[in-house]
Amino acid sequence: MSGIRIIVTYNCNFMCGNCRYKCGPYRKGIMEVNNFRNKIVKLYEDGYRDYIIIEGGEPFLYIGMIYKYLKKIKNIDAKKYIITNGFWGDIETYLYSLNELKEIGLYGIIIEYDYFHSAFTDISTIKGAIEKALKNGLNVTLKSVFLTKDISVKADILTFEFIKKIRESYKNIGYIFECVNTNEQNALLKFKTNTKEKVIMYKDRENI
Ligand code: SF4
Repeated sequence: MSGIRIIVTYNCNFMCGNCRYKCGPYRKGIMEVNNFRNKIVKLYEDGYRDYIIIEGGEPFLYIGMIYKYLKKIKNIDAKKYIITNGFWGDIETYLYSLNELKEIGLYGIIIEYDYFHSAFTDISTIKGAIEKALKNGLNVTLKSVFLTKDISVKADILTFEFIKKIRESYKNIGYIFECVNTNEQNALLKFKTNTKEKVIMYKDRENI
């Protein structure tokens, strides 16, 4: 497997304590559409062809841009995903927005939820997001971060409980767990990068 992960913005409506890119409402800007396309096309031609993950920040704050991005890469044959915090789970119009995104090639969404995200949203909203994505025939994965491998701290126990509650309703979606080693300095900012995955970062000054 090889693919592309593209961080299109650092703007986010949440400010999670473990955010790897230190995203938040004060971070502004989003990648320009042609720049997005050119970077994807180049890496695709270099052989990174299995998947394209659009990540932020929170991409769904810019639904119009997401539409433009997907339209620009409509002819590229790869599974296309968006990573989201699912804040839109209770907002009805997103049911139709997802439908439009699916029409132009979106394959799936990856919803992040764990102890860190729970300060900003609740399980019912996450379930709403899962429901809307499934109704549109999208592939759905829940991604959670743990601090310990043996679930030995309170944050992890809470994350585990959240996942259990979501699994009671959605057994057939995907689940990804990432463990961050708390013994290392700055461990919360570390993240695993698949060696066959190319990561493209948005440059804050791109639009200046
Ligand atoms: S929702 Fe995701 S991008 Fe936003 S602050 Fe939290 S971890 Fe960072």
